[in-house]
Amino acid sequence: MRKSLLDAIKDHPLLGDGAMGTQLMIAGLEQGNCGEEWNLTHPERVLAIQRNYANAGSDCILTNTFGGSRIMLNRHGNADNTVAINRAGVEIVRRAFAAAGRDGYVIGDIGPFGGLMEPYGDFSEAQVRDAFVEQAAALVDAGADAVIVETQTSLEELGLGIDAAREAGAPCIIGSLAYDVTLDGSTFRTMMGIDPERAAEFMEEHGAHIVALNCGTGMDMERARQAVQRYREATSLPVMAQPNAGQPCLVDMKVVYNETPEEMVRGVAPLLDAGANIIGGCCGSTPDHIRAFRASMDQYLSQFA
Ligand SMILES: [Zn+2]
Repeated sequence: MRKSLLDAIKDHPLLGDGAMGTQLMIAGLEQGNCGEEWNLTHPERVLAIQRNYANAGSDCILTNTFGGSRIMLNRHGNADNTVAINRAGVEIVRRAFAAAGRDGYVIGDIGPFGGLMEPYGDFSEAQVRDAFVEQAAALVDAGADAVIVETQTSLEELGLGIDAAREAGAPCIIGSLAYDVTLDGSTFRTMMGIDPERAAEFMEEHGAHIVALNCGTGMDMERARQAVQRYREATSLPVMAQPNAGQPCLVDMKVVYNETPEEMVRGVAPLLDAGANIIGGCCGSTPDHIRAFRASMDQYLSQFA
C-alpha cells in the first residue's frame, strides 16, 4: 500500500500544482461564471488542465472545488449539484494522475464561502459550518487524500473549515491563509489582521496537520520563504506554500501575473531550505511553472540522495 500524504512528506518534500482559476479562463471560462460546474458539464477541460500538471510532475493536485461549497454554488444556481460537483472533482484528479501514468495525492479544495458572517454579514455561523461539513464530507467520501481549507483570512472561518474536515474524517487537514504585504513592506498579515504565528498556533490547536499559505497580495517566492520560516518557528507541523506568480497587473482590463517560470523557480531552493514540505503555485502559475519547479526540486533533492 502506498504511503499516506503525511508519511510521504516525512521522506521528502512534494510538489503541488499551479493555478486552476487562471487555467480555466484560458480554457474558455468567462469571468464570473461557475468554474466548478465544469466538473459536471466539461470534465474533459478540467481533466486536460490537471493532466498537464500531472505530466509536469505534480505529486499533489487540488480538486477543482475552490468555490464548491453550497453557499458559493448557490450564487450560480448550482446548490443542488454540490455533492456531485465535489465528488466529480476528486474523480477528475484521479483520472488526471492515471492519464499521466503517475501516482499522486488528491487534495480536496475548500475555498472561502465568499461572504461575511453575522454580525458583519448575512450568513450565520451555522450556515457556513453546514456548508463546509457538506463539502468536506463529499470530498472525503469520494476518496480525497487530504482536505485543504485555503485562501482564508479569518480564524473563525478557517476554524469552521478545519472542524468540518475533521468531522468528515479527512486523513490529512491543511489550513492555508492568504497574507498581504503591509503598505510599508515591513511584514505581512491577512486582511483580518492575522499573522503567521497566530495562525500556526490556532491551526495546531484546532487539529490541522499541515499549515500553509497561498495567494495574497505581494506574497512572492521570497515572502513565501519568510512565511515558511515564521511557521517553522511557531509550530512543529509540516508547512505548505503556494505563492502567486508575482504581482497581479492589469493588462487590457484583465488581471495577469507576469512572473515567468524562470523567475519564480529561483525561489524554490530557498523555500526548501526554509523547510517547506509541499510547494506549489497559486494565481498565475501554469504547468510550465510546475515543470520548472519539478526540475529544481529534483536537483535540490539529489544532493541528499
Ligand atoms: Zn491565488
